[in-house]
Amino acid sequence: MNFTFVTLFKNIVEGYFSDSILKRAIEKNIININYLNPREFSDNKHNKVDDSAAGGGAGMVMNPQPLFDALSDLKEQDENVHIVFLTPVAKPFVQNDAKRLSKKSHIAFVSGRYEGIDERVIEEFADEVFSIGDYILTGGELASLVMCDAISRNVDGVLGNCESLDIESFETPLLEAPSFSKPQNFRGFFVSSEYLKGNHSKIRSLKLALSECKTKFFRPEQLLKHRTQSH
Ligand code: SAM
Repeated sequence: MNFTFVTLFKNIVEGYFSDSILKRAIEKNIININYLNPREFSDNKHNKVDDSAAGGGAGMVMNPQPLFDALSDLKEQDENVHIVFLTPVAKPFVQNDAKRLSKKSHIAFVSGRYEGIDERVIEEFADEVFSIGDYILTGGELASLVMCDAISRNVDGVLGNCESLDIESFETPLLEAPSFSKPQNFRGFFVSSEYLKGNHSKIRSLKLALSECKTKFFRPEQLLKHRTQSH
């Protein structure tokens, strides 16, 4: 699967892929990461990519020309590229989107900077527009990385043990049960002995009860959804 980061700040993004699971996925050619800098498409003699906002107001806006030309070029190279804009003015990105988007062959994430992107670019090129939460970041790079990471975990072969995907939080309305490792007694803090007795049906019941407790505490609306679905 191909990802293209359309960004003025490639360096911010690059470091994320230098270690761990996604680095291995790149080495195995399961995912490929590319970069496209709109500044390289600017026809301004100083390579400017921003301008003051039409109608006034504070801050600069990314002007249409460099992004129009960069994205046209990208589409010419791959007509199947799925272009995603990151902006707080959008639907929230959720796990179901991550799973759905993991089936695409090529996703381009377009990162805004300053006060955002001239709306005409979004109107012309967006296949989808996402926000990663109700807060304002300085740029779309972190948001693009969040999406790329969540999508990549769902691409076949990226995770060593794909079973772990089925039991994660958001696969059902319930949040995942707490995880424990070894030893059973760590400085006087014990893992429930039920986990160690090998009775899988009892372990499942215990995990379900713990999942419900966690969900009730952190996401009560999700517990309601779970109860409605299971009746
Ligand atoms: N003026 C914009 C507003 O109030 O909606 C905020 C612009 S923000 C400072 C600059 C860029 O960061 C945006 O164009 C977008 O790409 C990115 N960004 C900021 N917050 C984001 C969020 N919650 N989700 C996705 N992208 C975000």
